[in-house]
Amino acid sequence: MPSTPALTVPRNGGSDVLEVTERDLPAPGPGQVQVRVAAAGVNFIDVYQRQGVYPIPTPFTLGMEGAGEVVAVGEGAEFAVGDRVAWAMQLGSAAGLANLPAAQLVPVPDGLALDIAAAAMLQGMTAHYLVNSTYAVQPGDIALVHAAAGGVGQLLVQLITAKGGRVIATAGGPEKLAIAERLGAEGLIDYRRVDDLAAAVRAAADGGGVHVAYDGVGKDTFDASLAALRPRGTLALFGGASGQVPPFDIQRLNAAGSAYLTRPSLGAYLQDRDELLWRAGEILGALADGSLELEIGGRWPLGEAVAAYDALEGRGTTGKLLLIP
Ligand code: NDP
Repeated sequence: MPSTPALTVPRNGGSDVLEVTERDLPAPGPGQVQVRVAAAGVNFIDVYQRQGVYPIPTPFTLGMEGAGEVVAVGEGAEFAVGDRVAWAMQLGSAAGLANLPAAQLVPVPDGLALDIAAAAMLQGMTAHYLVNSTYAVQPGDIALVHAAAGGVGQLLVQLITAKGGRVIATAGGPEKLAIAERLGAEGLIDYRRVDDLAAAVRAAADGGGVHVAYDGVGKDTFDASLAALRPRGTLALFGGASGQVPPFDIQRLNAAGSAYLTRPSLGAYLQDRDELLWRAGEILGALADGSLELEIGGRWPLGEAVAAYDALEGRGTTGKLLLIP
């Protein structure tokens, strides 16, 4: 039985609870493959799980996405040793080896590096469902994207502008806004420096408000996102990097002009294998043909994962962060 290092959460808490442990990994079971992980993604969902906001019995191995090479195949799993694969929403990805359900794996296109594939899966499919399914962006639509230099943010800006949408981007500081501008955003707002964020967004949206607000910052931006919508606009609250939004009075949707509010999550937008292959295929394909770009904002060995999470939670990063087992 092979032994593998694994990034372990022994109990809920801050990043200081994280430790790398060695554990034995059995042969892959029916329908599973064993993968040597080339890179695992760092995501905010890992933070919520580590803190216990999303409860998981401890101890557990952290990490929800990655990419690597198949090293062993369980009964009935339709992959071969040597195949290059990527995945998302599979707990236990931050490890040297992982046993994964074959039905959750997607092939990595030839010519696309495994670390880029690992970096694209969770945030890429999230940006994909937000602009194609939660609110299907149309040419000429104006979209608000918060934290636009972040992992999901950079991908949202590109996918919206590729559809002919216009982006108003917020970010913390001029360097981050410059990234959003280079990727196609036309309205640029440093939300740490404005007193009335909704007014600034409305002014950038020709005075009329936005068709859709994509808000992954949550507590600190939610009210402004709602107030920045045009009549019948959509607020997609997809995360809470600044904290969770408190309970909400539905009457506020009326006051906001018959607004639509949704709190989507990736799992609900991956209902079956066809949906997984569609979203992952479009994102990995766009990266392979160069029509989508992805910034790797930092790489850390498993043993330095604390630094990776401190950087993410401390607002010190842009793009995607990776752990290299
Ligand atoms: P990011 O790379 O966007 O990092 C978070 C960014 O949020 C920071 O860099 C910072 O950017 C901004 N931010 C604003 N306030 C705070 C704060 N108080 N603390 C920390 N960050 C803050 O992260 P991800 O791309 O990984 O995730 C973005 C959001 O998307 C998260 O809320 C995450 O939970 C959510 N998400 C949701 C999914 C879903 O299906 N619902 C799936 C994947 C991610 P700045 O300095 O510019 O303000």
